[in-house]
Amino acid sequence: MDTEQVGHLLEALVFAADKHRDQRRKDQQATPYINHPIGLVSILWHEAGIHDPIVLIAALLHDTVEDTDTQFTDLSDRFGSEVEQVVRQVTDDKSLPKDVRKQLQIDHAAKVSDAAKLVKLADKTYNLRDLVKSPPAGWSLERQRAYCEWAKRVVDQMRGVHPTLEDLFDAAYADAMARNLV
Ligand code: NDP
Ligand code: ZN
Repeated sequence: MDTEQVGHLLEALVFAADKHRDQRRKDQQATPYINHPIGLVSILWHEAGIHDPIVLIAALLHDTVEDTDTQFTDLSDRFGSEVEQVVRQVTDDKSLPKDVRKQLQIDHAAKVSDAAKLVKLADKTYNLRDLVKSPPAGWSLERQRAYCEWAKRVVDQMRGVHPTLEDLFDAAYADAMARNLV
């Protein structure tokens, strides 16, 4: 990435940190929410070798519309339409019932852009690792297993886009099923 692109990445980090400033993850320690988008970027950059600024910026912003007051136009105005489109493709419509949203993720995963698939793969990988390390407070093993199985069903629709990232997901899935769920 060039200097200008690093600047945009930092701008996205500041934006996401501000938007998620009052939010926490669901684990017992109530980890600051921003650790999650930052973790996606680390998986993409360090572990998968993905350096595309559109993917990395979208990863930082991926939960801002779904979980905060951010509008898609805020993202297109500040970060451009390519980033906005990727975030749009990974954003659930929270007005729908949860079971419908979960099924739509499975139905739509194969149809989204490659950039959106990379963000979704990193997201699911991070969340399965989180389940092992610091699961949501109060989740039974059965619920954790159901989450893992649903995540795999989504990822199975996106196979072929990035073998390294898929391997990272598969390892996280195997780890979660073996260490956390049996
Ligand atoms: P949720 O959507 O309620 O929660 C999972 C999401 O929480 C993740 O995708 C992640 O989203 C976020 N998250 C925040 N903190 C953590 C963390 N520490 N570890 C992992 N994820 C975290 O889960 P589901 O509705 O998918 O529930 C899982 C399964 O359980 C489903 O298959 C459902 O059928 C079942 N279920 C059971 C219930 C019960 O009471 N037994 C109730 C509801 C569902 P993000 O990346 O966006 O932050
Ligand atoms: Zn996420």
